Amino acid sequence: MNSIPYPASKDAAPPTRSLRILLVDDSEDERLLLEDELHQEGYDPMIRRVETAETMQAALSEKEWDLLIVDYVMPRFSGLAALGLYRRLELDLPVIVVSGQMGEEIAVEVMRAGARDYIIKQNRSRLFPAIARELGEYGDRLARREAEQKLSIIAKSAHDAIVMWDSKGLIEFWNPAATRIFGWDEEEAIGIDIQRILIPAEDRKTAVKKFSFLTTAPGKMFGKTIELPALHKQGRQFPIELSLSTFHSHGAQEMIGIARDISDRKRMEKALKNLATHDSLTGFYNRTELEAQLRNELNRALRHQRPLSVFFLDLDHFKRVNDRFGHQAGDELLQSFADLLRKAVRNVDYIGRYGGEEFVVILPETPPQQALETAKRLVGSVMAHRFNTSGEKSMALTVSIGISALPDHGVTVEGLINAADKAMYTAKRTGRNRACLAQSTDG
Ligand code: GH3
Ligand code: MG
Ligand code: MG
Repeated sequence: MNSIPYPASKDAAPPTRSLRILLVDDSEDERLLLEDELHQEGYDPMIRRVETAETMQAALSEKEWDLLIVDYVMPRFSGLAALGLYRRLELDLPVIVVSGQMGEEIAVEVMRAGARDYIIKQNRSRLFPAIARELGEYGDRLARREAEQKLSIIAKSAHDAIVMWDSKGLIEFWNPAATRIFGWDEEEAIGIDIQRILIPAEDRKTAVKKFSFLTTAPGKMFGKTIELPALHKQGRQFPIELSLSTFHSHGAQEMIGIARDISDRKRMEKALKNLATHDSLTGFYNRTELEAQLRNELNRALRHQRPLSVFFLDLDHFKRVNDRFGHQAGDELLQSFADLLRKAVRNVDYIGRYGGEEFVVILPETPPQQALETAKRLVGSVMAHRFNTSGEKSMALTVSIGISALPDHGVTVEGLINAADKAMYTAKRTGRNRACLAQSTDG
Protein backbone atom coordinates (compact mmCIF):
# COMPACT_ATOMS: atom_id res chain seq x y z
CA MET A 1 0.00 0.00 0.00
CA ASN A 2 1.77 3.04 -1.19
CA SER A 3 -0.84 5.73 -1.09
CA ILE A 4 -1.68 8.29 1.47
CA PRO A 5 -4.68 7.31 3.53
CA TYR A 6 -7.56 9.68 3.12
CA PRO A 7 -10.00 10.66 5.78
CA ALA A 8 -13.00 8.36 5.89
CA SER A 9 -15.53 9.79 3.49
CA LYS A 10 -18.59 11.26 5.08
CA ASP A 11 -21.99 9.94 4.20
CA ALA A 12 -22.56 10.76 0.56
CA ALA A 13 -24.27 14.07 0.13
CA PRO A 14 -27.70 13.78 -1.50
CA PRO A 15 -27.10 13.39 -5.26
CA THR A 16 -27.42 16.44 -7.38
CA ARG A 17 -30.92 16.22 -8.66
CA SER A 18 -30.00 17.37 -12.13
CA LEU A 19 -28.78 14.38 -14.04
CA ARG A 20 -26.97 14.10 -17.36
CA ILE A 21 -27.46 10.68 -18.88
CA LEU A 22 -26.04 9.30 -22.07
CA LEU A 23 -28.38 6.55 -23.18
CA VAL A 24 -27.09 4.06 -25.73
CA ASP A 25 -30.34 2.65 -27.03
CA ASP A 26 -32.13 2.23 -30.36
CA SER A 27 -35.53 3.17 -28.97
CA GLU A 28 -36.72 6.76 -28.56
CA ASP A 29 -39.67 5.40 -26.58
CA GLU A 30 -37.20 4.05 -24.08
CA ARG A 31 -35.66 7.53 -23.71
CA LEU A 32 -39.05 9.16 -23.14
CA LEU A 33 -40.03 6.49 -20.65
CA LEU A 34 -36.80 6.93 -18.71
CA GLU A 35 -37.21 10.69 -18.71
CA ASP A 36 -40.71 10.36 -17.36
CA GLU A 37 -39.73 7.94 -14.66
CA LEU A 38 -36.76 10.02 -13.55
CA HIS A 39 -38.99 13.09 -13.25
CA GLN A 40 -41.21 11.05 -11.02
CA GLU A 41 -38.20 10.03 -8.96
CA GLY A 42 -37.43 13.68 -8.35
CA TYR A 43 -34.61 14.13 -10.85
CA ASP A 44 -34.23 16.79 -13.47
CA PRO A 45 -32.84 14.61 -16.23
CA MET A 46 -31.13 15.58 -19.45
CA ILE A 47 -30.99 12.46 -21.55
CA ARG A 48 -29.24 12.17 -24.88
CA ARG A 49 -29.79 9.03 -26.84
CA VAL A 50 -27.25 7.59 -29.26
CA GLU A 51 -27.32 4.33 -31.17
CA THR A 52 -24.05 4.12 -33.08
CA ALA A 53 -20.39 3.98 -32.10
CA GLU A 54 -19.69 7.31 -33.82
CA THR A 55 -22.45 9.26 -32.10
CA MET A 56 -21.61 7.63 -28.76
CA GLN A 57 -17.95 8.55 -29.08
CA ALA A 58 -18.81 12.10 -30.12
CA ALA A 59 -21.19 12.50 -27.16
CA LEU A 60 -18.67 11.12 -24.67
CA SER A 61 -15.89 13.37 -25.85
CA GLU A 62 -17.82 16.59 -26.18
CA LYS A 63 -19.69 16.60 -22.89
CA GLU A 64 -19.49 15.51 -19.29
CA TRP A 65 -21.96 12.87 -18.18
CA ASP A 66 -23.13 11.65 -14.81
CA LEU A 67 -24.27 8.25 -15.99
CA LEU A 68 -24.08 5.93 -18.95
CA ILE A 69 -26.99 3.54 -19.58
CA VAL A 70 -26.45 0.94 -22.27
CA ASP A 71 -29.02 -1.29 -23.91
CA TYR A 72 -27.53 -4.71 -24.40
CA VAL A 73 -29.27 -5.57 -27.65
CA MET A 74 -29.52 -3.03 -30.46
CA PRO A 75 -29.98 -3.62 -34.18
CA ARG A 76 -27.02 -1.50 -35.35
CA PHE A 77 -24.73 -1.51 -32.33
CA SER A 78 -24.12 -3.88 -29.45
CA GLY A 79 -23.97 -3.28 -25.71
CA LEU A 80 -20.61 -5.01 -25.51
CA ALA A 81 -19.18 -2.87 -28.29
CA ALA A 82 -20.49 0.22 -26.47
CA LEU A 83 -18.75 -0.92 -23.28
CA GLY A 84 -15.57 -1.55 -25.26
CA LEU A 85 -15.71 1.97 -26.64
CA TYR A 86 -16.32 3.39 -23.15
CA ARG A 87 -13.27 1.52 -21.83
CA ARG A 88 -11.04 2.64 -24.65
CA LEU A 89 -11.85 6.26 -23.80
CA GLU A 90 -10.61 5.56 -20.23
CA LEU A 91 -13.49 7.34 -18.59
CA ASP A 92 -14.67 6.79 -15.08
CA LEU A 93 -18.46 6.94 -15.20
CA PRO A 94 -21.07 4.75 -13.61
CA VAL A 95 -22.33 2.42 -16.33
CA ILE A 96 -25.55 0.43 -16.10
CA VAL A 97 -26.47 -2.15 -18.70
CA VAL A 98 -30.12 -2.82 -19.38
CA SER A 99 -31.24 -5.91 -21.21
CA GLY A 100 -34.38 -7.79 -22.02
CA GLN A 101 -32.81 -11.16 -21.67
CA MET A 102 -29.75 -11.72 -19.61
CA GLY A 103 -28.32 -15.04 -18.54
CA GLU A 104 -25.65 -15.39 -15.97
CA GLU A 105 -22.95 -15.61 -18.62
CA ILE A 106 -23.93 -12.35 -20.21
CA ALA A 107 -24.17 -10.69 -16.81
CA VAL A 108 -20.62 -11.74 -16.02
CA GLU A 109 -19.51 -10.58 -19.43
CA VAL A 110 -20.95 -7.08 -19.09
CA MET A 111 -19.54 -6.66 -15.58
CA ARG A 112 -16.10 -7.67 -16.87
CA ALA A 113 -16.51 -5.21 -19.71
CA GLY A 114 -16.79 -2.37 -17.22
CA ALA A 115 -20.45 -2.11 -16.28
CA ARG A 116 -21.15 -1.38 -12.62
CA ASP A 117 -24.58 -3.00 -12.68
CA TYR A 118 -27.01 -4.70 -15.01
CA ILE A 119 -30.79 -4.51 -14.98
CA ILE A 120 -33.19 -6.87 -16.65
CA LYS A 121 -36.01 -4.97 -18.34
CA GLN A 122 -38.69 -7.00 -16.56
CA ASN A 123 -37.09 -5.83 -13.32
CA ARG A 124 -37.09 -2.20 -14.28
CA SER A 125 -37.96 -1.00 -10.78
CA ARG A 126 -34.38 -1.88 -9.78
CA LEU A 127 -33.09 0.78 -12.13
CA PHE A 128 -33.76 3.75 -9.89
CA PRO A 129 -32.15 2.49 -6.67
CA ALA A 130 -29.21 1.40 -8.85
CA ILE A 131 -28.90 4.89 -10.31
CA ALA A 132 -29.07 6.49 -6.85
CA ARG A 133 -26.46 4.11 -5.49
CA GLU A 134 -24.12 4.53 -8.44
CA LEU A 135 -24.32 8.30 -8.29
CA GLY A 136 -23.58 8.21 -4.54
CA GLU A 137 -20.61 5.90 -4.94
CA TYR A 138 -19.38 7.87 -7.88
CA GLY A 139 -19.49 11.05 -5.77
CA ASP A 140 -17.56 9.26 -3.04
CA ARG A 141 -15.01 8.03 -5.54
CA LEU A 142 -14.55 11.52 -6.91
CA ALA A 143 -14.18 13.04 -3.43
CA ARG A 144 -11.76 10.33 -2.43
CA ARG A 145 -9.70 10.74 -5.58
CA GLU A 146 -9.63 14.48 -5.07
CA ALA A 147 -8.46 14.04 -1.46
CA GLU A 148 -5.79 11.60 -2.60
CA GLN A 149 -4.63 14.01 -5.26
CA LYS A 150 -4.38 16.84 -2.76
CA LEU A 151 -2.45 14.73 -0.24
CA SER A 152 -0.21 13.48 -2.98
CA ILE A 153 0.57 17.04 -4.06
CA ILE A 154 1.32 17.99 -0.45
CA ALA A 155 3.59 14.98 0.00
CA LYS A 156 5.35 15.63 -3.31
CA SER A 157 5.94 19.31 -2.79
CA ALA A 158 6.86 19.11 0.91
CA HIS A 159 10.38 20.16 1.80
CA ASP A 160 10.40 17.73 4.69
CA ALA A 161 10.70 13.99 4.31
CA ILE A 162 7.34 12.32 4.93
CA VAL A 163 7.73 8.65 5.72
CA MET A 164 5.23 6.09 6.97
CA TRP A 165 5.94 2.67 8.34
CA ASP A 166 4.03 -0.16 9.95
CA SER A 167 4.39 -1.55 13.45
CA LYS A 168 7.20 -3.84 12.28
CA GLY A 169 9.10 -0.80 11.10
CA LEU A 170 8.66 -1.56 7.39
CA ILE A 171 8.40 1.55 5.24
CA GLU A 172 5.13 2.00 3.38
CA PHE A 173 5.29 5.54 2.13
CA TRP A 174 8.21 7.66 1.02
CA ASN A 175 7.96 11.10 -0.56
CA PRO A 176 10.42 12.82 -2.94
CA ALA A 177 11.90 14.95 -0.14
CA ALA A 178 12.75 11.72 1.68
CA THR A 179 14.70 10.65 -1.40
CA ARG A 180 16.47 14.00 -1.49
CA ILE A 181 17.30 13.88 2.23
CA PHE A 182 18.17 10.20 2.74
CA GLY A 183 19.35 9.25 -0.78
CA TRP A 184 17.12 6.20 -1.24
CA ASP A 185 14.67 6.08 -4.14
CA GLU A 186 11.06 5.37 -3.33
CA GLU A 187 11.28 1.87 -4.84
CA GLU A 188 14.35 1.08 -2.74
CA ALA A 189 12.89 2.45 0.46
CA ILE A 190 9.46 0.80 0.38
CA GLY A 191 9.54 -2.37 2.47
CA ILE A 192 12.85 -1.58 4.19
CA ASP A 193 13.16 -1.36 7.96
CA ILE A 194 12.96 2.28 9.06
CA GLN A 195 15.87 1.73 11.44
CA ARG A 196 18.14 0.85 8.53
CA ILE A 197 17.37 4.18 6.97
CA LEU A 198 17.37 6.34 10.02
CA ILE A 199 19.87 5.00 12.45
CA PRO A 200 23.62 4.84 11.91
CA ALA A 201 24.85 1.23 12.13
CA GLU A 202 26.82 1.60 15.33
CA ASP A 203 23.85 3.16 17.12
CA ARG A 204 21.62 0.39 15.78
CA LYS A 205 23.76 -2.26 17.44
CA THR A 206 24.28 -0.55 20.76
CA ALA A 207 20.98 1.18 21.12
CA VAL A 208 18.28 -1.15 19.83
CA LYS A 209 16.17 -0.28 22.88
CA LYS A 210 16.79 3.40 22.48
CA PHE A 211 15.17 3.41 19.06
CA SER A 212 12.39 0.97 19.79
CA PHE A 213 10.12 4.00 20.03
CA LEU A 214 10.10 4.01 16.23
CA THR A 215 7.95 0.91 16.16
CA THR A 216 6.37 0.46 19.55
CA ALA A 217 3.10 1.93 20.66
CA PRO A 218 3.11 5.68 21.06
CA GLY A 219 5.77 6.23 23.63
CA LYS A 220 6.75 9.53 25.07
CA MET A 221 8.45 10.38 21.77
CA PHE A 222 5.21 10.61 19.86
CA GLY A 223 3.79 14.00 19.21
CA LYS A 224 7.17 15.51 19.96
CA THR A 225 10.04 16.71 17.86
CA ILE A 226 13.35 15.07 18.51
CA GLU A 227 16.82 15.59 17.11
CA LEU A 228 18.87 12.57 16.16
CA PRO A 229 21.71 11.56 13.87
CA ALA A 230 20.47 9.99 10.64
CA LEU A 231 22.12 8.00 7.94
CA HIS A 232 22.40 8.89 4.26
CA LYS A 233 22.37 6.06 1.71
CA GLN A 234 25.99 6.89 0.97
CA GLY A 235 26.89 6.26 4.61
CA ARG A 236 27.26 9.88 5.64
CA GLN A 237 25.71 10.84 8.96
CA PHE A 238 23.77 14.03 9.39
CA PRO A 239 21.47 15.52 11.99
CA ILE A 240 17.71 15.48 11.51
CA GLU A 241 14.76 16.82 13.37
CA LEU A 242 12.05 14.19 13.48
CA SER A 243 8.46 14.54 14.53
CA LEU A 244 6.53 11.34 15.04
CA SER A 245 2.86 10.63 15.06
CA THR A 246 0.75 7.57 14.76
CA PHE A 247 -2.64 6.56 13.44
CA HIS A 248 -4.71 3.44 13.03
CA SER A 249 -5.52 2.03 9.64
CA HIS A 250 -7.62 -1.12 9.27
CA GLY A 251 -6.98 -1.94 12.93
CA ALA A 252 -3.20 -1.76 12.62
CA GLN A 253 -1.00 0.96 14.00
CA GLU A 254 0.91 3.03 11.47
CA MET A 255 3.66 5.52 12.15
CA ILE A 256 4.34 8.79 10.38
CA GLY A 257 7.67 10.53 10.64
CA ILE A 258 8.30 13.98 9.28
CA ALA A 259 12.01 14.62 9.07
CA ARG A 260 14.07 17.66 8.24
CA ASP A 261 17.78 17.83 7.54
CA ILE A 262 19.13 20.27 10.12
CA SER A 263 22.80 20.19 9.06
CA ASP A 264 22.72 23.86 8.10
CA ARG A 265 21.05 24.88 11.31
CA LYS A 266 23.53 22.85 13.36
CA ARG A 267 26.45 24.41 11.48
CA MET A 268 24.97 27.82 12.13
CA GLU A 269 24.43 27.08 15.80
CA LYS A 270 28.00 25.86 16.07
CA ALA A 271 29.31 28.95 14.32
CA LEU A 272 27.22 31.17 16.57
CA LYS A 273 28.39 29.34 19.66
CA ASN A 274 31.94 29.63 18.41
CA LEU A 275 31.44 33.34 17.92
CA ALA A 276 30.22 33.67 21.47
CA THR A 277 33.12 31.74 22.98
CA HIS A 278 36.07 32.50 20.72
CA ASP A 279 38.15 35.45 19.68
CA SER A 280 37.86 36.10 15.95
CA LEU A 281 41.40 37.36 15.37
CA THR A 282 43.27 34.42 16.86
CA GLY A 283 40.62 31.70 17.20
CA PHE A 284 41.52 31.36 20.89
CA TYR A 285 38.92 31.32 23.66
CA ASN A 286 37.67 34.74 24.65
CA ARG A 287 38.06 35.95 28.20
CA THR A 288 34.70 34.70 29.45
CA GLU A 289 35.14 31.22 28.00
CA LEU A 290 38.74 30.99 29.17
CA GLU A 291 37.61 31.74 32.70
CA ALA A 292 34.87 29.12 32.42
CA GLN A 293 37.42 26.54 31.26
CA LEU A 294 39.75 27.53 34.10
CA ARG A 295 36.90 27.04 36.57
CA ASN A 296 36.36 23.48 35.30
CA GLU A 297 40.04 22.56 35.29
CA LEU A 298 40.53 24.14 38.69
CA ASN A 299 37.70 22.12 40.23
CA ARG A 300 38.97 18.95 38.64
CA ALA A 301 42.53 19.58 39.87
CA LEU A 302 41.33 20.40 43.39
CA ARG A 303 39.10 17.29 43.48
CA HIS A 304 41.89 14.99 42.39
CA GLN A 305 44.70 16.99 44.03
CA ARG A 306 46.45 17.43 40.72
CA PRO A 307 48.84 20.25 39.77
CA LEU A 308 47.70 23.13 37.53
CA SER A 309 49.53 26.22 36.28
CA VAL A 310 48.48 29.43 34.56
CA PHE A 311 50.42 31.79 32.26
CA PHE A 312 49.65 35.47 31.86
CA LEU A 313 51.41 36.77 28.73
CA ASP A 314 51.76 40.36 27.59
CA LEU A 315 53.69 41.42 24.49
CA ASP A 316 56.45 43.88 25.16
CA HIS A 317 56.24 47.42 23.82
CA PHE A 318 53.47 46.48 21.49
CA LYS A 319 52.27 50.05 21.31
CA ARG A 320 55.45 50.90 19.41
CA VAL A 321 54.64 48.28 16.77
CA ASN A 322 51.32 49.91 16.15
CA ASP A 323 52.81 53.38 16.16
CA ARG A 324 55.46 52.40 13.61
CA PHE A 325 53.63 50.03 11.31
CA GLY A 326 49.99 50.74 11.89
CA HIS A 327 47.18 48.85 13.55
CA GLN A 328 46.69 46.45 10.61
CA ALA A 329 50.29 45.27 10.82
CA GLY A 330 49.83 45.01 14.59
CA ASP A 331 46.89 42.66 14.03
CA GLU A 332 48.91 40.50 11.66
CA LEU A 333 51.68 40.31 14.23
CA LEU A 334 49.18 39.22 16.84
CA GLN A 335 48.07 36.42 14.52
CA SER A 336 51.63 35.26 13.90
CA PHE A 337 52.29 35.36 17.60
CA ALA A 338 49.11 33.29 18.15
CA ASP A 339 50.41 30.63 15.72
CA LEU A 340 53.68 30.45 17.55
CA LEU A 341 51.97 30.26 20.94
CA ARG A 342 49.67 27.45 19.76
CA LYS A 343 52.68 25.40 18.68
CA ALA A 344 54.58 26.10 21.89
CA VAL A 345 52.01 24.55 24.23
CA ARG A 346 50.40 21.10 24.41
CA ASN A 347 47.05 20.17 22.88
CA VAL A 348 45.61 19.71 26.34
CA ASP A 349 46.43 23.28 27.31
CA TYR A 350 43.84 26.03 26.90
CA ILE A 351 44.72 29.37 25.35
CA GLY A 352 42.62 32.47 25.68
CA ARG A 353 43.00 36.00 24.37
CA TYR A 354 42.48 37.88 27.57
CA GLY A 355 42.79 41.43 26.25
CA GLY A 356 44.38 43.25 23.28
CA GLU A 357 47.87 41.75 23.36
CA GLU A 358 47.40 39.75 26.53
CA PHE A 359 46.93 36.00 26.59
CA VAL A 360 46.23 33.45 29.31
CA VAL A 361 47.22 29.78 29.07
CA ILE A 362 45.88 27.04 31.38
CA LEU A 363 48.28 24.13 31.80
CA PRO A 364 46.54 21.16 33.46
CA GLU A 365 48.68 18.55 35.23
CA THR A 366 51.60 20.97 35.29
CA PRO A 367 53.49 21.89 38.50
CA PRO A 368 55.02 25.40 38.79
CA GLN A 369 58.64 24.50 38.06
CA GLN A 370 57.70 22.64 34.90
CA ALA A 371 55.46 25.56 33.88
CA LEU A 372 58.37 27.96 34.43
CA GLU A 373 60.57 25.85 32.14
CA THR A 374 57.91 25.88 29.43
CA ALA A 375 57.49 29.65 29.81
CA LYS A 376 61.21 30.27 29.54
CA ARG A 377 61.37 28.15 26.40
CA LEU A 378 58.49 30.15 24.98
CA VAL A 379 60.15 33.48 25.79
CA GLY A 380 63.26 32.22 24.01
CA SER A 381 61.45 31.08 20.90
CA VAL A 382 59.47 34.35 20.62
CA MET A 383 62.73 36.29 20.86
CA ALA A 384 64.36 34.09 18.22
CA HIS A 385 61.40 34.35 15.83
CA ARG A 386 61.28 36.80 12.96
CA PHE A 387 57.76 38.08 12.61
CA ASN A 388 56.58 39.14 9.17
CA THR A 389 53.91 41.60 8.27
CA SER A 390 52.73 42.16 4.74
CA GLY A 391 54.95 44.67 2.98
CA GLU A 392 57.27 45.22 5.93
CA LYS A 393 60.61 43.78 6.83
CA SER A 394 60.60 41.05 9.41
CA MET A 395 60.91 42.20 12.98
CA ALA A 396 61.53 40.89 16.46
CA LEU A 397 59.05 40.79 19.32
CA THR A 398 59.41 39.80 22.93
CA VAL A 399 56.96 38.69 25.54
CA SER A 400 56.74 38.84 29.34
CA ILE A 401 55.10 35.91 31.13
CA GLY A 402 53.84 35.64 34.69
CA ILE A 403 53.15 32.16 36.08
CA SER A 404 50.91 31.09 38.92
CA ALA A 405 50.17 27.59 40.15
CA LEU A 406 47.59 25.75 42.21
CA PRO A 407 47.45 25.87 45.21
CA ASP A 408 50.51 27.99 46.06
CA HIS A 409 49.32 31.20 44.36
CA GLY A 410 45.59 30.88 44.60
CA VAL A 411 42.70 28.42 44.62
CA THR A 412 40.16 30.46 42.64
CA VAL A 413 39.98 31.63 39.04
CA GLU A 414 40.48 35.25 40.10
CA GLY A 415 43.26 34.34 42.56
CA LEU A 416 45.28 32.42 39.99
CA ILE A 417 44.86 34.97 37.22
CA ASN A 418 45.65 37.92 39.47
CA ALA A 419 48.77 36.17 40.77
CA ALA A 420 49.94 35.42 37.21
CA ASP A 421 49.17 39.01 36.13
CA LYS A 422 51.17 40.34 39.07
CA ALA A 423 54.09 38.04 38.22
CA MET A 424 53.90 39.32 34.60
CA TYR A 425 54.34 42.89 35.91
CA THR A 426 57.36 41.74 37.89
CA ALA A 427 58.76 40.41 34.59
CA LYS A 428 58.09 43.78 32.94
CA ARG A 429 59.68 45.68 35.81
CA THR A 430 62.79 43.55 35.83
CA GLY A 431 63.55 44.05 32.15
CA ARG A 432 60.77 42.34 30.05
CA ASN A 433 61.46 39.41 27.69
CA ARG A 434 61.33 36.98 30.60
CA ALA A 435 59.18 34.62 32.67
CA CYS A 436 58.53 35.09 36.40
CA LEU A 437 56.87 32.73 38.84
CA ALA A 438 54.41 34.28 41.29
CA GLN A 439 55.27 34.65 44.96
CA SER A 440 53.67 32.10 47.25
CA THR A 441 50.71 33.60 49.12
CA ASP A 442 52.07 32.25 52.38
CA GLY A 443 55.66 33.46 51.75
P1 GH3 B 1 54.44 46.83 27.70
O1 GH3 B 1 53.34 45.86 27.68
O2 GH3 B 1 55.73 46.23 27.30
O3 GH3 B 1 54.50 47.60 28.93
O4 GH3 B 1 54.15 47.88 26.53
P2 GH3 B 1 52.93 47.94 25.59
O5 GH3 B 1 53.19 48.95 24.55
O6 GH3 B 1 52.64 46.57 25.07
O7 GH3 B 1 51.86 48.46 26.57
P3 GH3 B 1 50.48 47.89 26.95
O8 GH3 B 1 50.57 46.42 27.10
O9 GH3 B 1 49.99 48.65 28.09
O10 GH3 B 1 49.60 48.30 25.69
C1 GH3 B 1 49.15 47.42 24.76
C2 GH3 B 1 49.12 48.03 23.38
O11 GH3 B 1 48.91 47.04 22.42
C3 GH3 B 1 48.03 49.04 23.22
C4 GH3 B 1 47.65 48.93 21.80
O12 GH3 B 1 48.38 49.89 21.02
C5 GH3 B 1 48.14 47.58 21.37
N1 GH3 B 1 47.01 46.69 21.13
C6 GH3 B 1 46.17 46.17 22.01
N2 GH3 B 1 45.27 45.40 21.41
C7 GH3 B 1 45.53 45.44 20.08
C8 GH3 B 1 44.94 44.83 18.90
O13 GH3 B 1 43.95 44.09 18.97
N3 GH3 B 1 45.50 45.09 17.72
C9 GH3 B 1 46.60 45.91 17.61
N4 GH3 B 1 47.10 46.11 16.41
N5 GH3 B 1 47.14 46.46 18.67
C10 GH3 B 1 46.66 46.27 19.90
MG1 MG C 1 48.97 44.89 27.72
MG1 MG D 1 52.16 45.02 26.27
